[in-house]
Amino acid sequence: MHDHRPDTHPFVIDVRELGRRAGAMSRVERTVPAPADLTSMGATVPAGSDLELDLRLESVIEGVLVSGTATAQVRAECSRCLDPVHDEITVELTELYAYPETDARGRLRAAPDDGQAAADLDERPLDGDRLDLEPALRDALVVALPLAPVCRDDCPGLCPQCGARLADDPDHRHEQYDPRWAALGALSESLTEPTRPTGSGRPSETINGSHEKEEG
Ligand SMILES: [Zn+2]
Ligand SMILES: [Zn+2]
Repeated sequence: MHDHRPDTHPFVIDVRELGRRAGAMSRVERTVPAPADLTSMGATVPAGSDLELDLRLESVIEGVLVSGTATAQVRAECSRCLDPVHDEITVELTELYAYPETDARGRLRAAPDDGQAAADLDERPLDGDRLDLEPALRDALVVALPLAPVCRDDCPGLCPQCGARLADDPDHRHEQYDPRWAALGALSESLTEPTRPTGSGRPSETINGSHEKEEG
């Protein structure tokens, strides 16, 4: 055990014990306080709320490969009824924390010619024997936040006329806006409008009497 003191930063992980032996592994299971400003348009991870990490650290030739999941609490507003929404999201992480260009023995870093498709990995710098998970967590969580959160899948939302919560009052309606009344109104209007016969007789003669002027 060489935990001289707890990491001052909860997202910084000491990887010394992996000892740069390719294949060495360790597990990180801890609950850390969520960082501030983890917010998207529709939702937020409250600062200081529980962020559960379940990660595997694996020593590889290029550095330390971190994979696993992070689970965060999400607070949002239902996009339909504006009620508060409490949710949880779990994101998957796969990050390569790379050694500097040369490793401890002065070798050049191995080209990514074997195994892992290095191009598919997010690569981040390894700071000595420490890696900082926060930027990776932040990136993964922000894009996973729901854009249009709902309090429940079938949330009926709000009445477009008065803003009442339709979930509380499913039969809610407004008589004066009943589309059937609107249809009746339109019908009665068309009935009272004077109707002219079309296509019968000589309509141009009867409209403004200009017929005779043009001839004479
Ligand atoms: Zn809702
Ligand atoms: Zn209403």
